Amino acid sequence: MTEPVLIVGAGPVGLTMAAALARHDVPVRIIERAAARTDKSKALVLWSRTLELLDIQDCVAPFLAAGLKGTGARIIAGGRELVHLGLDRAATQYNYALFVPQSETERLLEEELARRGVTVERQVELATFTVAPDGVGATLRHLADGAEEAVRTRWLCACDGAHSTIRHGLGVDFTGSTEPSIWVLADVMISGALPVEVTVCWQEDGILAFFPIAPGRFRIIADVAVAPDGGAPSLAEVQALLDRRGPPGLTAHDPVWLSEFRINERKLKDYRVGPVFLAGDAAHVHSPAGGQGMNTGMQDAINLAWKLALVWHGAARPSLLDSYSPERSAIGEQVLRNAGRMTRVAILRNPILQRLRNAAAGVLGHLPALRQRLVDQFCELDLHYAESPLTVRAPHAAAHPAPGARTPDCAVVAPDGARGRLHEALREGRFVVLSVGASALSLPGSLARIARAAQARPTGPYQVGVCYLIRPDAYLALSTPATAPQPVFDFLDAIAAA
Ligand SMILES: Cc1cc2nc3c(=O)[nH]c(=O)nc-3n(C[C@H](O)[C@H](O)[C@H](O)COP(=O)(O)OP(=O)(O)OC[C@H]3O[C@@H](n4cnc5c(N)ncnc54)[C@H](O)[C@@H]3O)c2cc1C
Repeated sequence: MTEPVLIVGAGPVGLTMAAALARHDVPVRIIERAAARTDKSKALVLWSRTLELLDIQDCVAPFLAAGLKGTGARIIAGGRELVHLGLDRAATQYNYALFVPQSETERLLEEELARRGVTVERQVELATFTVAPDGVGATLRHLADGAEEAVRTRWLCACDGAHSTIRHGLGVDFTGSTEPSIWVLADVMISGALPVEVTVCWQEDGILAFFPIAPGRFRIIADVAVAPDGGAPSLAEVQALLDRRGPPGLTAHDPVWLSEFRINERKLKDYRVGPVFLAGDAAHVHSPAGGQGMNTGMQDAINLAWKLALVWHGAARPSLLDSYSPERSAIGEQVLRNAGRMTRVAILRNPILQRLRNAAAGVLGHLPALRQRLVDQFCELDLHYAESPLTVRAPHAAAHPAPGARTPDCAVVAPDGARGRLHEALREGRFVVLSVGASALSLPGSLARIARAAQARPTGPYQVGVCYLIRPDAYLALSTPATAPQPVFDFLDAIAAA
């Protein structure tokens, strides 16, 4: 294969896809209609699981340097704190929410891409395309001079956002609805005492939520009864919302961005149509509650990129790519459901239901098991591929981590004695066969292109005497007793290219 993978759209998802492919020496072209990156804060949070995956991409450090670590989230109603979730309960080294404006996230991803020798081709749009079983023919339009260019690619990645040209061109259903609620958004400086946490205020006339952006700077969102004149609230209207619904003593000033938005809840059933893969907002859009839209899209990209890279290099069979859509579509459904539920609970208007909601939150929010579940859900540590075609329940599998679950980082030793971390070992884009409290498995040379062996002392959730087959994106494919490793060989033989 020689033609580059064509990535359409240089938002956070297209940039993540391009960087992840370029890391594994897959040639890419990434085109973007817009002349410049967004200057808007849009998606603000990088959650723990995304940070773990950026660590595996070997590029987390610049994000940590640029971001603001948020330690928790709280819900206030009637001047009383009902729930406080401390993110330090998350069992990961990234046990916080990293607040980074989307404009910065895109800048950092573009810099990472440049380090890999790839430049975003701006003012170039995908105009038309035709799909054949073995690839895609496309016409690119160079907006600076109107020139058109015919290209061919084996694989097309549609990272072209909620209004995706490619999704429209494929004529696939983007099923869902537009919610009737109206929301205002303000990216402002705030004077007054507000912690570096997500603060959600449930009031009788609606919700007001604060998200930290930078020291003293916050995103405010609120649902309102009537759309603001001119499509954006004035600073005075934002202050009135703060006074009515927020904690006392806060003053908004120096607005950076004032806007209005509606919530769309839509998703594709299949994220793949032949040689076309859809990812990010092109495949799913939902309520910003939980702040998971961009994170989900970036994780779509990382899921696809390691599979494409193994197939591109002839190390894995093309059938490996069949797992992308079922895995990511199931995650998209879960995110859509949770975000929709959170939004509907937050914007309840019926006073009796509001009282019931507040009473339930006050009680349930103090149950340790439920708090842990909520923390894991926000941090995206509970995401799993239990039902994936790539997940195998081998006989006598270990209970922890369960097949399909995330595999936490731990110290590992390579067969040559080199010490490191599991998530560092995964940077090569191969499966890691991890033997815990047992000798590293000896893998035949025929499997060396898709897997490597390592061993670990009994640690964290890993059980002694167990051999874990860990995917390049740190999810568990299967586990088996170290004394009975055949399921590992069977699995790898089934996906390795002949
Ligand atoms: C107000 C607001 C607040 C948000 N808050 C959050 C939040 O707190 N947390 C969260 O996770 N998410 C949030 N989101 C959602 C988040 O911004 C999106 O999920 C994210 O931008 C999706 O990234 P993407 O790369 O899929 O799409 P986009 O960022 O939309 O990028 C798609 C790119 O494709 C380009 N493009 C489109 N068509 C073509 C074409 N034919 N040829 C070439 N280029 C093309 C576009 O110009 C665009 O740059 C928010 C969004 C908004 C608007």
